[in-house]
Amino acid sequence: MSLLENIRRNANLYEESVAYHYEGPNGCQKELTWRQVDDYSDIIAEYLEKTLTTKKPIIVYGHKDPFMVICFLACAKSGRAHCPIDLFLQEQRVQSITELVEPELVFNMSEKSYPAEAKTVLGMDWLEQQIKAPKKKTCFEGMREEEPFYIIFTSGSTGKPKGVQITRGYFDHFLAGKMNTERGIDSSRRHVFINEVPFSFTFCAEDLYLSLYSGGSVWAIDRALFSNVKALTEIMVRSGGTILPATPSFFKLCLADEAFSEISFRSLERIMFCGEVLSNHLVQQVRERFPNVEIINTYGATEMIAATDIVITDEIERKCHPLPVGWMRPGMRVIVADEYGKEVPEGEKGEIIIAGRGLTAGAGYFKRKDLTEKKFQDWVIQGNRYRVYHTGDAGYMKDGCLFYGGRLDTQIKLNGFRIELEDIENNLMKIEGLEQVAVVPRYKADQVKSLTAYIVYKGMEEDPPHYIKKKAQEYLPEYMIPKKIKIVSSLPLVNNGKVDRKLLSENENV
Ligand code: AMP
Repeated sequence: MSLLENIRRNANLYEESVAYHYEGPNGCQKELTWRQVDDYSDIIAEYLEKTLTTKKPIIVYGHKDPFMVICFLACAKSGRAHCPIDLFLQEQRVQSITELVEPELVFNMSEKSYPAEAKTVLGMDWLEQQIKAPKKKTCFEGMREEEPFYIIFTSGSTGKPKGVQITRGYFDHFLAGKMNTERGIDSSRRHVFINEVPFSFTFCAEDLYLSLYSGGSVWAIDRALFSNVKALTEIMVRSGGTILPATPSFFKLCLADEAFSEISFRSLERIMFCGEVLSNHLVQQVRERFPNVEIINTYGATEMIAATDIVITDEIERKCHPLPVGWMRPGMRVIVADEYGKEVPEGEKGEIIIAGRGLTAGAGYFKRKDLTEKKFQDWVIQGNRYRVYHTGDAGYMKDGCLFYGGRLDTQIKLNGFRIELEDIENNLMKIEGLEQVAVVPRYKADQVKSLTAYIVYKGMEEDPPHYIKKKAQEYLPEYMIPKKIKIVSSLPLVNNGKVDRKLLSENENV
């Protein structure tokens, strides 16, 4: 069944129970029932069908407001892709996305005015009025499998954001593949999913959309509340959340509150990590706080959502350094290949190339044929035609399981030595007392001259930089030990919860 079919089914089954809950600043709470999700999106979809003359994507602007969900689904029902933009995005970036998308319509589901020029902008008051009318139409054409369901903009190497298109077919395939498997969602249960990332990140497929698909409920927490970790814990406890999809950085943030543990947060059953390296150290910290919670590591990218997953058992945590990112989802294949696209033997490092049954010709970058052709190709593997995506990640296979080995594009040369920055970071993390580390290169005339490690240190040593450098000799050759060690209280994060390497690098190279 497709996402839209499941939503209709869930609305009929769960009618007045909560499908979506929003927690905002100053005690603001908003909710949508299952019935409202389906009915309101029908009303808005009918408006779109009647009013719009093109099938151009529609921009939905805001931050986690329940009406954003209504707009997303209305777009899909009326056969249009939606393009979510979060409030944190700077004006210039919103402008450049708007110019590229050329939307016939922008839904502004926020209190702020839309920061770019657009033909028509409809706000929350408009939507509020519309949904008061009884719905007339319930059957919509929707979109074809190969048409984009959404377009998510991520930073691009050109300096302008690039739009990643996820097709309806692939998205449905992703959601269906997540149900009723060992590491998936048990459809006989109604889970409460906690949402931490904004909807302009693919990662929300793991909470918002899995919940809509499986008939659970979502607790979306406004990012404005992240600065008060105690209040954040209190909200999560109150949510009765059973599944927490989280970046490791977000989880580390939560650990700052002692109350963030199984003793108070009793409902939590599963943590799904994604988006960043999950370290053994963090798994040990999770075990200390949540001894009975299942830990899953998933690996993916905006271009393919999550491609792999694995339950991190005690045995895996003991045996594997680094931890694996997992097994392929049903219908997906991984090829670890050399620079010529030839599969390398098991255990050898190469580029991770993902082949997906649902990755169709419609997958790729919005209005970027050049980039799409570079990153997505059609391959024949063992007689079957697949569309493949070149991740730019390094990795290797071991007993059929995928291991992540850093970004291919953060490889540097220092005094002729080839170095992966993540290699240094993973090794430094073995030193006791280190909470977080990011290593950035220092450039002179476009050449890397030295490395600086930004470190969050919680150990007892009096002179941490000296101690870390000395200890690092146990794990790293001399040339890989960062020249400078800067102790910081926290690492800056970008809005999707990952460490902001760009900012650190800019600081280092002023
Ligand atoms: P994004 O498109 O923002 O989701 O970033 C995708 C990138 O995040 C991937 O290409 C990887 O480099 C990294 N990534 C995603 N999941 C993991 C994981 N489980 N472990 C390590 N790196 C990851």
